[in-house]
Amino acid sequence: MADAGDTCARQRFIDFLAHKNLRLTAQRRAIIDTAFNTRQHFTAEQLLAWSQRRDKSVSRATVYRTLPLLTESGLLREMDFGKDRKIYDPNYAEHPHHNHIICQDCDKIVEFESPKIERLENEISRRLGFAVRSHRLQITANCEELRRLGTCRKKDATE
Ligand SMILES: [Zn+2]
Ligand SMILES: [Zn+2]
Repeated sequence: MADAGDTCARQRFIDFLAHKNLRLTAQRRAIIDTAFNTRQHFTAEQLLAWSQRRDKSVSRATVYRTLPLLTESGLLREMDFGKDRKIYDPNYAEHPHHNHIICQDCDKIVEFESPKIERLENEISRRLGFAVRSHRLQITANCEELRRLGTCRKKDATE
């Protein structure tokens, strides 16, 4: 199922480019194949490094020009995890309601969905006279390693 969703997000972005009369160059293809072939959250520099593994000719400039298009299309979301650099999330196209829990030490990010939380949000919103349009839930926490050892061996999973 995950693969079908990824292909779908990728194809939707290709359609998006076509609508804007933008060419699907080999570099761009390598970048979007990379972005939609991972479930991981990534930085621009990571996307560049991974894309270059696919196609050595991918340039930093093309990555930085393509990222705003990806976020504009709504298929990639720019996240604010309170870090000094932007982190991108490719999983909203497939899982629009997912939430994040992030380790305060190593920045490990885990996604989760909860119908219970959604029900609660709807209930609270209704009570206050609102209707939910979107939500964002982010839990900062101590991962298992941090709890057990007092530190995380692999600092900053997004490097
Ligand atoms: Zn996510
Ligand atoms: Zn940790």
